[in-house]
Amino acid sequence: MNERIPFNRPYMTGKELYYIAQAHFDGALAGDGAFTKRCHAWLEKYTGTKKVLLTHSCTAALEMTALLLDIQPGDEIIMPSYTFVSTANAFALRGGTPVFVDIREDTLNLDETRIEAAITPRTRAIVPVHYAGVACEMDAIMRIARKHGLKVVEDAAQGVMACYKGRVLGSIGDLGAYSFHETKNIISGEGGALLVNDPNMTARAEIIREKGTDRSRFFRGEVDKYTWQEIGSSFLPGELTAAFLWAQLEEGEMITRKRLESWQYYHDALAGLEKKGVLRRPIVPVECRHNAHMYYILLASENERDRMLQKLKTENIHAVFHYVPLHSSPAGMRHARSCDNLAVTENISKRLVRLPMWAGIETKKQDRVIKAISSSS
Ligand SMILES: *Cc1c(COP(=O)(O)O)cnc(C)c1O
Repeated sequence: MNERIPFNRPYMTGKELYYIAQAHFDGALAGDGAFTKRCHAWLEKYTGTKKVLLTHSCTAALEMTALLLDIQPGDEIIMPSYTFVSTANAFALRGGTPVFVDIREDTLNLDETRIEAAITPRTRAIVPVHYAGVACEMDAIMRIARKHGLKVVEDAAQGVMACYKGRVLGSIGDLGAYSFHETKNIISGEGGALLVNDPNMTARAEIIREKGTDRSRFFRGEVDKYTWQEIGSSFLPGELTAAFLWAQLEEGEMITRKRLESWQYYHDALAGLEKKGVLRRPIVPVECRHNAHMYYILLASENERDRMLQKLKTENIHAVFHYVPLHSSPAGMRHARSCDNLAVTENISKRLVRLPMWAGIETKKQDRVIKAISSSS
């Protein structure tokens, strides 16, 4: 039997334990210590965002956006159904209603041409999800949002270090959310960040993240005591997590470059099968610089997809599919609604396969995956 090829393997730069030891030695383990500050400064510089705040997950960052936008029961938030649960859950927690809009055939991102039809007097925000690190059509989305007085929250969980027309994902909308989960590009186990691009929201973002208190101001010596200011929670990671993340951010460019190489290797090797009509490869519009977060293929039908997954499994290759569209999930049916039909979402979710992908995956392993796909076709 061939050695098993996992779906993902967390990439380590080699410096993680060194920085963790340093945090341990310094004896400052709570949040917002030296490593957190370094991560904040790096992310603010890289993204050009005024305020970046580390969180313990992208889920937490999205929950913060719902608090920042003061989402009330009955408020509507436009988003794709083809996404991870946290995109919707964060707003449903405040009593908001996710309103699902279909995705584009090419990028599998929110279809910007269908957004306006979903807007009602209760609509408060649009949440584009940059699927696979390929940007949504942000110019059109921002134009629609401004025209209707809506806020834009970018779910850039998969979009760290990717760009749209030269602008870093997460820095374009009013707010952005990153994930540093083990399965993402830049990791800290569990981890995330909130990007506050609207300068009017930075002070409140700090308060919401610090249990609803002005403790951050107190630490800067701006107030002589800190008190409960508004509804918040504990959204900040400890220093050990930030120390790990620092080692990754330092090597962020290199990690992205490695992933892009592996992505391109699949892409070139599978061109022939696309020509034969066996599968479709990812489409990256010219204005998008992606980050090789994932490599997926689209098969002709659900049957073909299942056959492909079975074939890869027998070759001891771990490939996966996603997402079960949120509108067809039990909680989605209770807490959200759909605008119009979601035909593309339903169709795509039945035909997609994600291939094993990580920074530094050996071409020998990729060759085995490619061979298995070819022989199944
Ligand atoms: C991974 C992911 C999240 C959640 O990230 P966590 O850091 O695990 O909370 C949210 N949205 C999308 C689109 C994701 O891919």
